[in-house]
Amino acid sequence: MLRNDQLDQWDRENFFHPSTHLAQHARGEAHSRIIETGSGVHIEDRDGNRLLDAFAGLYCVNVGYGRQEIAEAIAEQARKLAYYHAYVGHGTEASITLSKMILDRAPDNMSKVYFGLGGSDANETNIKLVWYYNNILGRPEKKKIISRWRGYHGSGLMTGSLTGLELFHKKFDLPFDNVLHTEAPYYFRRPDLAMSEADFVSHCVAELEAMIEREGADTIAAFIGEPAMGTGGLVPPPKGYWQAIQPVLKKHDILLIADEVVTGFGRLGSMFGSEHYGIEADIITIAKGLTSAYAPLSGSIVSNKVWDVLMKGTDETGPIGHGWTYSAHPIGAAAAIANLKLVDELNLVENAGVVGSHFTSAMRDALGDHPNVGEIRGEGLLMAVEFVEDRETRRFFDPSKKIGPTIAGELLKNGVIARAMPQGDIIGFAPPLCLTGDEAQQIVDAMTKSVESVLGR
Ligand code: PMP
Repeated sequence: MLRNDQLDQWDRENFFHPSTHLAQHARGEAHSRIIETGSGVHIEDRDGNRLLDAFAGLYCVNVGYGRQEIAEAIAEQARKLAYYHAYVGHGTEASITLSKMILDRAPDNMSKVYFGLGGSDANETNIKLVWYYNNILGRPEKKKIISRWRGYHGSGLMTGSLTGLELFHKKFDLPFDNVLHTEAPYYFRRPDLAMSEADFVSHCVAELEAMIEREGADTIAAFIGEPAMGTGGLVPPPKGYWQAIQPVLKKHDILLIADEVVTGFGRLGSMFGSEHYGIEADIITIAKGLTSAYAPLSGSIVSNKVWDVLMKGTDETGPIGHGWTYSAHPIGAAAAIANLKLVDELNLVENAGVVGSHFTSAMRDALGDHPNVGEIRGEGLLMAVEFVEDRETRRFFDPSKKIGPTIAGELLKNGVIARAMPQGDIIGFAPPLCLTGDEAQQIVDAMTKSVESVLGR
């Protein structure tokens, strides 16, 4: 086995890490962390630290680490047939079976699933599909996509544009022109503290309507949103948000893309976030929880309404000019089948709801009255604690104080991995869906200790 200092050196010399301060990393100013093994909700690093991963990797290892059933399924598929493509009607038993399993779980109006590798490429597919859709319907001007500030939809060219976080645009010449951003459904950060939740929903709707009016409905193809926001702050929507937004989209014939990369397959305590909030999407994006990240695989589930137009398109113009070499990769499909079986057998969707509500209420009991805790919000096993300098006026800390990252660093010392979310002092939790009540309490205890050591009581 290679020595840690050797790996550390090779890492700095050769490895271009995503979402990393490249200069600091190359200069060795931050300790690089090398993860060695995982089992259940725990991972172990090369320094021998055993950590409770309360963010499931990047909220993707939903069934937990070390599941032998999935490893076996991958090995068996690799031995039998590691690869064949899915172009011009080709398939494998794994990819066909998985398509059926996904459609069996998806909302009733869904028709087919197109497979990709990750959330970003699935959303790139979705954008191309809605453009194609409008071209086939003879509406070539109807192309703009509305996303929300703080929405996260990937880091490709169009998906990075849709992502409503400044870091993903700065110095990349993004966002592109045909992307629009509207108000995030983030009640804690409402523009006026006096607004009730219902007033805030009306405000979000009014902003959307004004945008449609300004741009012209005949120029807008789709609206994309995560049922509950992820990277932008782990924010469940205010009550009634989706019920108020959807009629506006319907009225203007704007397709709805539900980006369920995080919420799909149980995170909120329902199989899909769409089901959880009563969202009737035209396209659903899936990734992460589809395979619990045992292999890369994503999907775009398209509704009957969209599918009918796509079929018409190929009758008019020939085969659809969109495909990846690795679409429906058999190893990813085998991993997903084994993963979805485990989700069922272990009742993980239900567990996410039950343990999730215990987790959130235990966190509120422990930290709800801390003077710097502005809000503790959660749905299923997606939870966030947001910090403020002053609770009464909701004054935020100066970002240079790095309160969020400091608390996350302290949590790590206390044996728990959580994520300091990128915009604000927000500590995010999205543990594997197999989390137990005891493990939830361990996270709460570690968080309490960490918060008190950084901010006092
Ligand atoms: N959509 C959402 C909601 C996501 O959270 C993410 C990733 N965190 C993506 C899309 C992009 O997925 P990927 O990183 O697999 O490209």
